[in-house]
Amino acid sequence: MPKFEQKISLPENLPGLLLAWFDGAKREMPWRGTRDPYKIWLSEIMLQQTRVETVREYYLRFLAAFPTVRDLAAAPEEKLMKLWQGLGYYSRARHLAAAAAIVVEKYGGKFPAEPEILCTLPGIGLYTAGAIASIAFEKPVPAVDGNVARVISRLTGTRAEASDVSFRAAVSGGLAEIYPQTRCGDFTQSLMELGATVCLPNGVPFCESCPLKAFCYAAAHDCASELPVRKVKKERPVSEMTVCLLENGGRIALRKRPETGLLAGLWEFPHLPGRLGKAALAASLAEWPLDLEAMTRGRTREHIFTHRKWILYPWRIVCTGKGAPSWRWVRFSELEKAYPLPAAFGKLLAEE
Ligand code: SF4
Repeated sequence: MPKFEQKISLPENLPGLLLAWFDGAKREMPWRGTRDPYKIWLSEIMLQQTRVETVREYYLRFLAAFPTVRDLAAAPEEKLMKLWQGLGYYSRARHLAAAAAIVVEKYGGKFPAEPEILCTLPGIGLYTAGAIASIAFEKPVPAVDGNVARVISRLTGTRAEASDVSFRAAVSGGLAEIYPQTRCGDFTQSLMELGATVCLPNGVPFCESCPLKAFCYAAAHDCASELPVRKVKKERPVSEMTVCLLENGGRIALRKRPETGLLAGLWEFPHLPGRLGKAALAASLAEWPLDLEAMTRGRTREHIFTHRKWILYPWRIVCTGKGAPSWRWVRFSELEKAYPLPAAFGKLLAEE
C-alpha cells in the first residue's frame, strides 16, 4: 500500500461530544481513574492483542505481586513469566521488566512524562507513549491504535488500512489539532472506548448510539463495513510437531526453550518435528536412556500465533529412566507453581 499522505481534518466539536458521551457510557475497569503512570503503562501493555475481560484478572494479580515499578524491576524472571502465563505474546513481559529496570536506574523510579522519552523504553511505541502521556500526565498527545484509526477512517471516509503507520501518523496529526487542553486523558480513553464498544471492528457498528453520527461519512453513506480498508492476509506458515508428555514416577519431563525467538525462555514439553507414529516416536526416543511402558495418543490440537500456526500431535508416555540431559523432571504441583508453560503446551496437559 502506498504511503498515506493526506491531511486528516476533524471537527472542533469532536472532543466535547465524545467527552459528554464518555461520562455516561464508559465501562468500569480496574485501571480507570488512576493517574499512576506505572499502572497505566501496565494496563496498556497487557491490553495489546488481549481482550479487556482477560486482562482484568491478570492486571490485578500482577499489581498485587509488583505494586510499584521498583518491585517489577527487582522481580525474578521466572516469577514474572509465571504471572504472565496464558496472556501470550511473552516478549511484552520481557519488555516490561527491561523498561522497569531503566525507569528505576535512569529516572529514579519516576516515569518520564515526555512521549519522546517514553518511546525510548523497551516495548513502548507511539501509541503507548501517547496513552501514558495523556492519561497519567494530562498532556494533549494522541494515542492512535487500531480502534482509533478505525473510528477516524469511518468518520472521515478515508480509505486506508488501520495498521498503516503513515495513516496512523496522519490521524495523530489531525487529532493533535483538536485535542482539548483539559481532560486529555479522558479524551484519549473516549476515543478508544468508542472504537471498542460502538464503532466495532467486525459486524455492524452501533451508529444509532454513536455521538459522532451527525457528521460521520460512513454512517451517511452506509459504508462502515468497507472502512478501514482490510489488509490482505498472508497464509501463516504451519509447523507440525509430535509432543511427548513423558511421565515418570509422578513427574513430567520439561525442557527450557532457547533464550531468543518465539516463546523465549519459557518451558515446554519435549517434542520432535513432524507427525510421528508410535513406532517412529519410540525409535526417536530410544536415543535416550528411557524405558517406555505405555504410549497413548492424545487429541491433535492447533495453536495460532500472529504469524504462524502450530499443529501439535501429543503422546502421553509412561516411562522410567533419565531421558535427555536437557530435560527436567518436575512434579505436577511444581509445574503449576513455578514453570511458565505457553498456552500451546498447557492445553495439552489439561486434556490428559
Ligand atoms: Fe462509527 Fe457509526 Fe459512529 Fe461513524 S457513526 S463513527 S461508523 S459508530
